[in-house]
Amino acid sequence: EFPQSKLMSTLPKQFFASLVAKVNAKVATGADVINLGQGNPDQPTPAYIVQSTQKWVADPATHKYSQFRGQPAFKQAAADFYQEVYGAAFDPEKEVAILGGSKIGLVELPWALMNPGDLFLLPDPGYPDYLSGAALGQVEYATVPLKAENNFLPDLAAIPAATARRAKFFYVNYPNNPTGAVATREFYEELVAWAKQYEVGIISDFAYGALGYDGNRPISFMEIPGAKEVGIEFYTYSKTFNMAGWRIAFAVGNADIIEALNLIQDHLFVSLFPALQYAAIDALQDPARDGAIQALVDRYQTRRDAFLTAAAKIGWHGFAPQGTFYAWMPTPPKMTSEEFADVLLDQAAVAVAPGKGFGDYGEGYVRIGLLIEPARLVEAVERIGKLHLFE
Ligand code: PLP
Repeated sequence: EFPQSKLMSTLPKQFFASLVAKVNAKVATGADVINLGQGNPDQPTPAYIVQSTQKWVADPATHKYSQFRGQPAFKQAAADFYQEVYGAAFDPEKEVAILGGSKIGLVELPWALMNPGDLFLLPDPGYPDYLSGAALGQVEYATVPLKAENNFLPDLAAIPAATARRAKFFYVNYPNNPTGAVATREFYEELVAWAKQYEVGIISDFAYGALGYDGNRPISFMEIPGAKEVGIEFYTYSKTFNMAGWRIAFAVGNADIIEALNLIQDHLFVSLFPALQYAAIDALQDPARDGAIQALVDRYQTRRDAFLTAAAKIGWHGFAPQGTFYAWMPTPPKMTSEEFADVLLDQAAVAVAPGKGFGDYGEGYVRIGLLIEPARLVEAVERIGKLHLFE
C-alpha cells in the first residue's frame, strides 16, 4: 500500500466531478444531452497558428531542451504584445514568466510566495482551482463576495481592515468566470490604491482578456499606473486562441513575483517544447491575429445574444455577460443551484454548472457555457421553457 501524503488530503474536492458523472450517466441512457456545463472552447485553433506550429515542429533545432525559463524571443514577444495592446512595458527577462497554462502558475503561486498560515483573498464566486493553491501552499484563504448589485466587482471598502492587513495576495479575475462581468478602470485604480495601502499583492487572472462583448475590449489590470508595483497578470492562450489543450500561457508584472514563479518552475519543469514557444510568438505577431480574435468574439456575441433573447422569452432573466463565454443565470425561486441543475438534466437533458460549485455566493445561479452554436442554445432554452419554472 502506498498511502498519499497528508498534504494530498487537504486538496479540495473537485465539485464538478459529480456533475461530469451525472452527465455521462444521462448520455449513457441514449438521451440527446445539450451540455452547457463545461468551459472547453469548441472552436479550432486558428489555421495560421497550426501552420506555424507544423513548420516549427519540423525544425530539429526545436527538439532540444528549451532554455529553463523559456526562450528569450518568446518573453520578448509577450512583452511587445502587452506594450502594443495595453500600453504596458515589461522587462522580458525580469518581468515575464512562461507557463504551461495559467492554471499551474495560479496554483503554484501561494507555494512560491507565501508561508504556512499566511492569508490570501479569493473571489466568491470564483474559479475553483484557486483553492488548490491554498492547499499546496498550506496557506489560509478568505473569500470576498462578488454581488450582482456591484456588477460582480468586489466592494473593497467592505473588506475588514484586519483581513486586508493580514492578506498577502488577492486574486481577481476579469472578465470573470463565472459571472461574465468585466472590470472598470475606476475599480482597478481603486484596487491599486487599496493594494498599496494594505500591502497586498494583486494577482490578475486575465484568462478571458480578449473576450469582450458589444465592441468593448476588456481592460487589463496592467493598464493602470502602478499596477506593476503591486502585482502580476496571467495571460493564457487557451481562450484567446482556442488553445486550451496546448497548455501555454505567460505572466507579466512585478519582478519579485515573477522571479518566485520562475524559481519554483526551475525545479519542476524545463519550460515548454520550443516549437510551441515559437508558434506562440507567431500567434501574437502574425497579421492574422486580430482578425482571428475578432471572428471568435463575434461568434460568441451571436451566441450570447441568441441565448439571452431565448431566455427572456421563457421569463428567464439574467445578468447580460460583458465578457467571457458564460452566462450567469438565476435559479427559479425556492430551488438550489444543484436542484435546478439536476432537474434540467433529468427532465430537459440540459447540463448546466450549479453556481454553488464556484462558492457560497454562487448559490442562486447556474453557469451556462456558450460553447455550442446558437440553434442548440435556443433548443436548450426551449426545452427548459417546457418545464414552466420561470412563470
Ligand atoms: N482562470 C480561469 C478563470 C479559467 O476559467 C481558466 C480555465 O478555464 C483558467 C484560469 C486556466 O486556464 P489555462 O488553460 O491557461 O490553465
